Amino acid sequence: MVISHDETPDLRGLPRAGVERLVAALGEKPYRARQLFRWLHRAGAATLGEMTDVPRALRDALAREVRLTTLERANEQRSTDGTVKWTWRTRDGKLVESVYMPEADRRTLCVSTQVGCAVGCTFCLTGTMGLARNLEPGEIVDQIHRANRRLVELGVAEGPRPLTNLVFMGMGEPLANYRSLKVALDLLLSEDGPQFSHRHVTVSTSGLVPMIRRLGEETPVKLAVSLNATTDAQRDALMPINRRWPLAELLAACREFPVRNGRRITFEYVLLGGVNDSLEDARRLASLLRGLPAKVNLIPYNANPGLPFEAPPASRVVAFQEELAARHLTVVVRKNRGRDISAACGQLAAEGGPGDPRRQPVSAE
Ligand code: SF4
Repeated sequence: MVISHDETPDLRGLPRAGVERLVAALGEKPYRARQLFRWLHRAGAATLGEMTDVPRALRDALAREVRLTTLERANEQRSTDGTVKWTWRTRDGKLVESVYMPEADRRTLCVSTQVGCAVGCTFCLTGTMGLARNLEPGEIVDQIHRANRRLVELGVAEGPRPLTNLVFMGMGEPLANYRSLKVALDLLLSEDGPQFSHRHVTVSTSGLVPMIRRLGEETPVKLAVSLNATTDAQRDALMPINRRWPLAELLAACREFPVRNGRRITFEYVLLGGVNDSLEDARRLASLLRGLPAKVNLIPYNANPGLPFEAPPASRVVAFQEELAARHLTVVVRKNRGRDISAACGQLAAEGGPGDPRRQPVSAE
């Protein structure tokens, strides 16, 4: 579902060729397209007024022909571990979140692609919201521009564009909004854009099999799969999408996914206390991933009010990790970042928004 706020095209979400056509239609020289594009996607300009070397007449003409999506910062929460969570307000008043995660060797933004999510994973706070709408390409890329600018303002990172890595793991199922995602990825990977390397951009999916194939064919980015279970019965209960595309189909699509230059597919596995954290689960997981270029991210569950799951005991996390390592799998336990500001995995639900279970109690299945 794509909701167009109005018929006026969004300059922020136009592909490069669209900017070139617009500039030509306005009777301007072709080099103006590159100039505009760099303002939009390298400098992350918030307004046409910032584009000081673009002639006033062109800026006025653009203001008549197009709109420019710039997200409004509705909230900012900073964790003691350096994580920052932003809530952005869209033009039509919807709230979405992005999370900044600094590490020694990278500065990553977790990006949202939808307002809410229709997939309905039973352990996920976003899943309790349902889907309000897809984000447009300009709303996806502007999370990166606003975050870069804000990080510079806060002085917590250096350079005009502090972000080095992107993970599409925020609110929403990215591959359920493939059209917008594809345009956004093209903009973000463009040489005149914010200059992300495809090696540093990861799209995560809950298992939308046909779109995994398309992502592999049409983009060079990395794939992460939110797996979380080792039998169909278990995964059906946790992730309803498994009833449509069960484990065998999902893993077959992963085997076909082009992995370039020794890169690997990341399999995320949220460890839910007493549900999927046994040694038997670990052994089944190793056997499912045998032969795949896989890396496993174990994510100890963060207890959420309103959801009927518990964090796994620390000893279980260690035992699970050791069992996988003993079977020659690369496995890391993801740090629980930003827990104090509800920025950790599965905790994004646009606080205060219509779907926020902290305001509106939900009954989980
Ligand atoms: S885990 Fe991802 S796909 Fe599942 S409900 Fe949450 S946001 Fe949607």
